Amino acid sequence: MIDTKIMALTYLIQKAQNITVLSGAGISTESGIPDFRSSSGTWTNNKSRQSLMSIDYLRGNPKEFWPIYKELFGIKMSNEFQPNYGHQFLSDLEKQGKNVTILTQNVDGLHSVAGSSNVFEIHGTIKHAFCPKHKDTNKKYDVEYINKQEIPRCDHVNGKGVECKFILHPGVVLFGDAVRHYKEALEAATQCDLFLVIGSSLQVGPINELPVYAKYGGTEKKIVLINNEGTELDEYFDIIIKGGIGDTFKKVNELLEGVEK
Ligand code: NAD
Repeated sequence: MIDTKIMALTYLIQKAQNITVLSGAGISTESGIPDFRSSSGTWTNNKSRQSLMSIDYLRGNPKEFWPIYKELFGIKMSNEFQPNYGHQFLSDLEKQGKNVTILTQNVDGLHSVAGSSNVFEIHGTIKHAFCPKHKDTNKKYDVEYINKQEIPRCDHVNGKGVECKFILHPGVVLFGDAVRHYKEALEAATQCDLFLVIGSSLQVGPINELPVYAKYGGTEKKIVLINNEGTELDEYFDIIIKGGIGDTFKKVNELLEGVEK
């Protein structure tokens, strides 16, 4: 028997034209990338790792920072991970004519690989690094470059032929860094018909404010959470589906296809 919550979500997706999705690490666990805070999460067994992934630690200890960063974010394997059913389902909604805006806390780039075109990477990306001294050049160093050097450095050469060699900063937003695209995120969270939060513990600010703004601000909308476990913000959701993202979307898709036939 189909769960009534799945039926309700299917109806909301079918009815909505403007869908905003806030995704977290949970959507990528089915691609083999561990999340941070569930029982097998990267932070769960070693909370000190959080302080090492801070802007203060990077500035004070850049040589120590880089090997830890590379290990924690799996940089060596980062080009090998593939989108899973959850990423694909959201990308397909766009192909079906819905306006889908993805606000992702993820840094793995998998929503874009799946084909979603309107993606805001609020916490940046592991796909590049940059030199803080030459930010104005907008030069990005890709994963291949980052992996070639143990401590990646800037290769910018000045007018006198001297190479910069400053230690790069990762494209990921570190603790203590400002998040990206918050204005666009706020706009998308409040101006939609359906706000869907998936695979996030909602423990990281200021992103965890978005369900609250979505509930009280902007257009009339429904707010839905799909997550394996509860969050401290559960009271803000109209529907909470406790379960796997891929499994949930597969059931929704079956219902949607049934309706179309
Ligand atoms: P989190 O680890 O705090 O929470 C993930 C949540 O997803 C947990 O509540 C977990 O129970 C749930 N979950 C895991 N797999 C699931 C599945 N298949 N179906 C349904 N629910 C599932 O993650 P967060 O809230 O995104 O915050 C973590 C921070 O870590 C973010 O800032 C993000 O940048 C970073 N991060 C990113 C990645 C990535 O890019 N893939 C991976 C780990 C961490």
